[in-house]
Amino acid sequence: MGRIRVLSDVVANKIAAGEVVERPASVVKELLENSLDAGSSRVRIDVEAGGRRLIRVSDDGSGMLRDDALLAFERHATSKLSDVKDLLSIATLGFRGEALPSIASVSRLTLETRSPDETTGTLVEIAGGRIVRCEEAALAQGTIIAVRDLFFNVPARKKFLRSEQTELAHIAQLATHYSLAYPDKAFELRHQNSELLYVTPVTAIRDRVFQVFGSQVMEDLVELPAVTRDITIDEEDENGTRFFRLRGFVSRPQVQKSNRNSIFLFVNGRMIRDRLLMHALNAAYASLIPGNAFPFALLFFECSPEEVDVNVHPSKTEVRFRRSGFVHDFVRDAVRSVLTAARPVSSLPLAPVPRQGAALPYSEFTQKLEDFRYTEHGPAQPEAAPEAAPAGALPDFTLREPRRFSPGRLDFSGPAIAPEGPPVQTAPPPVRSKRVPDTHGALPEGLAAEPSPSLEVLRDLRPIGQLHDSFIVAAGPDGLWIVDQHVAHERILFEKVLRQMGSGQVERQSLLMPILLELNATQQVEYSRIATELEAVGFEIEPFGQRTISVKAAPADIGLAEIERAILEILDLAEEELRHGSFEDVRRDMAASIACRAAIKINMALDMTKMRWLLAELAETEFPMSCPHGRPIALRYATREILKGFHRI
Ligand code: ADP
Ligand code: MG
Repeated sequence: MGRIRVLSDVVANKIAAGEVVERPASVVKELLENSLDAGSSRVRIDVEAGGRRLIRVSDDGSGMLRDDALLAFERHATSKLSDVKDLLSIATLGFRGEALPSIASVSRLTLETRSPDETTGTLVEIAGGRIVRCEEAALAQGTIIAVRDLFFNVPARKKFLRSEQTELAHIAQLATHYSLAYPDKAFELRHQNSELLYVTPVTAIRDRVFQVFGSQVMEDLVELPAVTRDITIDEEDENGTRFFRLRGFVSRPQVQKSNRNSIFLFVNGRMIRDRLLMHALNAAYASLIPGNAFPFALLFFECSPEEVDVNVHPSKTEVRFRRSGFVHDFVRDAVRSVLTAARPVSSLPLAPVPRQGAALPYSEFTQKLEDFRYTEHGPAQPEAAPEAAPAGALPDFTLREPRRFSPGRLDFSGPAIAPEGPPVQTAPPPVRSKRVPDTHGALPEGLAAEPSPSLEVLRDLRPIGQLHDSFIVAAGPDGLWIVDQHVAHERILFEKVLRQMGSGQVERQSLLMPILLELNATQQVEYSRIATELEAVGFEIEPFGQRTISVKAAPADIGLAEIERAILEILDLAEEELRHGSFEDVRRDMAASIACRAAIKINMALDMTKMRWLLAELAETEFPMSCPHGRPIALRYATREILKGFHRI
C-alpha cells in the first residue's frame, strides 16, 4: 500500500459524480432543483438522444454573479448553507454544493448566467472538470446550463445507460413529478423537436393535475384536503410545536395500476422515493385493491424542517423522519379516511385479498425495513399475513382483473400440462369420515380406477348452467367442472390475437369517429417506442398535434368503450416491460390486455348456445388451463371425490 494522498478535486468530483449522476435523469433533477431554488417562474428542459447528447435547462431565476459562476463549480460550494446548524432545517432543494462540480466532471458543460445586479452575463465552459473558457457575454437574466456528451470520459458508466427511450422516459417522469409539485411555475420539456410537457402556471394543484393527466385521470381521483396535526414537544433538549400536513390526490379503489409509476410522493416540496410513505399508502388501500395492484397517488407531505432529515443520500431522493411511526400512521389514516368517504354506496364489500405489505403492523414493518433494498421500482414489499375475512363479506363479482402480468407464469414452449400431477386444479377433497363406505348401488361406469384427468375431456363438457352469471357449471366424463367464463374467453382471445399477430393478419375495426387521446409525457415516450407493435396488433394510430394521438382503427374484438383504456394500459405495461423485458414481452402483454378488454365479462348471463360455444373454443386452445395472467380457468370436482364424499367408495 502506498502513502496516503489527498485526492485532487478533479478525481474527488468524479467520485462524487458516481453517486450524484447515475443517469441523464439525475442531471435533469439537479439542474431543475437549482432552477427552482433560484426562484424561477419558468423552466425549460431540452433533451437530445435521451439526454446522452444534450440536456439543457434554461430558467428565468436569480442567475449568478460573475464570481459565483466560477465558484459554483468548486466542490462543496453552495449559496444555500453556511453553518452546520442550517443542515437541521433545510428549506431549499439543494444544499450539498456537489451537483455542478460532479456533473461538470463527467460531461462538457456550458453555463450562461446573468444576475439582475450585473449588466452583463457570464459564460463558463468546462470539459471533464477542467475550465476551458470563462468570458463576459450579453445575456438575459437567468441561467442556462447545457450538459453535452454525458459520461464521455467515463466509458464504464456510459455502458450502463439504457436505451435512449428508457432514459427519456425517466426524464419525462421526473419533469412530470416536479411540474406537479410546483403548479405556480411553467414547465416545458422537449425532446429533439417534440414537446413532451408544456404547462403554464396555475393556482391550484387540481388544475395542474388536470393539465398533466387530463380529465379521464381527474375523474378517477379523490382530493385529499389538507389535514394538519400539530404536536407539542417538551423534552429536555428541545421543545416547541411541530406541524405535519398532508394533502394531495388519491385514486378511487376501482383504479388499479400495475406498477408504482403513478405514485408521486413529495416531502416539503422535494420529490422522494420513500418506503415509509409507500407503506403507509399501501396500508391505506389494504383490502380495497388487490395485493399486486397499485393506486395512483399524489401526496404532498409537509412538516417542520427539523422533523425530517433530507441529508440521507447524495441524490436526495430518500429522507428520514424523526417520528417515523407517527408519520406513517398519520399518512395512512388520512388517506384511508378519504377513501372510506369516497367509496360508492352501491359497491359490494370487497372479498378479502391477501395483500402484501399492508396488513403488517408498523412495528414489524420497521424491523423488516432494514432488509429492504431499493430496486429500480422502489422498495421491495414485506411479506404480510393474509387478512382475516371480514364477517359477512360477500364475494365481489365486480372485482377487476389483476393487471400485473408475470412473464414467468406464461409458458409457450413447454407442454400444455405438467407431465406429473393433474392438469387441472381439483376442488379440495371433502373431509374424510371414519364410517364404512356405503357400497350399495353400483359405481358409475368406468370409475373403479382413479381417472387420469386429461385435457381431451374438455371437448366433452356439457354445460348445465351458470353460477352467479359468472361461472359455467358443466358435467364432464370425469366429474363436475366450473369454468370462469371471463378468463376462459380471455384465453381464447389471447391465443387468437397472438396467432393473428404471428401471421400478420390481424382483424381490425375501423372507427367511424377517430378517438382522440391526450398523452402525458411518459405515455408519449412509450407510444413512440411501441408504435409499430400497436400497429401489428391491429391499432391504426396517427399523431394528432403535439401531445395527442388519433385512433382510427382498433383490434376487432374490443368494444368502443374499452379502446381508450386498452391503449393506456398497454402504454403503462410497455414501460414496465421494456425496463427489463423485450418487445416479445410487450407483444404478449398487448395480446393479454386486448383479450381481457374484449372478453365476456363476469356477471353476464349466457345462454346454453354461448356456453357450449365457449367450452368448445376453450377446448381448442393450446393452454386451456390458465388465463394469460396465470390464473386458473377451470376447477374440477372429480367424480371420484364426489363418490368419496357420499361414502360410496
Ligand atoms: P447546491 O444546489 O447544493 O447548492 P449545486 O452544485 O447544485 O449545489 O449548485 C451550486 C451553486 O450554484 C448553488 O448553491 C447556487 O448558488 C448556484 N446555482 C446553480 N444553479 C443555479 C441556477 N439555475 N440559478 C442560480 N444559481 C444557481
Ligand atoms: Mg443543486
